[in-house]
Amino acid sequence: MLVSSLLITLVREYCQNCHYPIKTCLCEHIQPFEVPQKLVVLQHPSETNNAKNSARLVKLCLPQTEIYVGENEGDFADIIQQVDTAHCAVLFPSRGSKAIEKHILKRIDTFIFIDATWRKALKVWCLNPWLHQLPAFHFESPPAGQYPIRKAPQPGYLSTLEAINYIISRENPELKTPLIRVFHYFNQQFLSFRPDNQD
Ligand SMILES: [Zn+2]
Repeated sequence: MLVSSLLITLVREYCQNCHYPIKTCLCEHIQPFEVPQKLVVLQHPSETNNAKNSARLVKLCLPQTEIYVGENEGDFADIIQQVDTAHCAVLFPSRGSKAIEKHILKRIDTFIFIDATWRKALKVWCLNPWLHQLPAFHFESPPAGQYPIRKAPQPGYLSTLEAINYIISRENPELKTPLIRVFHYFNQQFLSFRPDNQD
């Protein structure tokens, strides 16, 4: 196949707006909204081109979301410079993390999430000691995960979209976030034409 015809094929197969495959285009379901908190996603490079990645869906719905792709401190130099340790928290279950349900986060206005498979998220955590200086939280009683197109490492683990939805719903009780509704369409569209593909 000629390069030009290959490019045309690729352009045709992916929506130019949401960048998901045409068959799973979600544009008609997306209504962008905002929240007062700053949302930072540290995305492992293996997630960036994964069509089933949920952080990309968050970015479409919440354009203020900042996604930094990388694995080690050098990759995240830009965000490290901006982090204010007095007002920033990381969502990651670790030895020193606390159950977020038991704390009122009055001073926290920035939330950091790691977007990766569990094994790679742990690697990002270990390679980034700057994260260990921040208050860390885990979820003690999250809603059940609804991510049938990817495997959760164990019950109780949420996708990045669900984790962000959980936090912003908690921090903004008046907000009716559309994230889960869009996520439902996203999963349904994948399942409708690729029922056995999980990774
Ligand atoms: Zn689209």
